[in-house]
Amino acid sequence: MKCKTLHKDLIFFLEKELPEKEMELVKTHLAECSNCALFAEEMKKTLGILEAERSPAVNPFFYTRLKAKIENREPEIKQVFWKPELVRVLQPVLFSVLLILGIYTGIKIGQPTPAQMISVNAADQEIISFLNEMDSEPIEGFLME
Ligand SMILES: [Zn+2]
Repeated sequence: MKCKTLHKDLIFFLEKELPEKEMELVKTHLAECSNCALFAEEMKKTLGILEAERSPAVNPFFYTRLKAKIENREPEIKQVFWKPELVRVLQPVLFSVLLILGIYTGIKIGQPTPAQMISVNAADQEIISFLNEMDSEPIEGFLME
């Protein structure tokens, strides 16, 4: 069976509306082809959500919970992001990224001649003074502004 054929038959397979022989062919292909297996998983999830929306009366608790989950998702993420603990964890990460950027810039400039060494060192100095500035001004306050 070709992937294209499977994609066409998949929805009927998931609804169990295919002839038995076709069901077997799809099943065999899904076992062998990870791409189609992934596709089938996604479609199964989508069908599950559609099913819940189509008939909320059948399973009202699932529907309510799903809806609450979707509605709550965004504020939850924001709350987690702005937790001071997390910012404290992110702060060193940010510094590491800045340092790596500084090193990368240094490498990009090329093989250091004495003059270039000085300019690389100057760039390092800039980063260090920038980091010191960041230190004297807590990043929590900086981000909350
Ligand atoms: Zn396939």
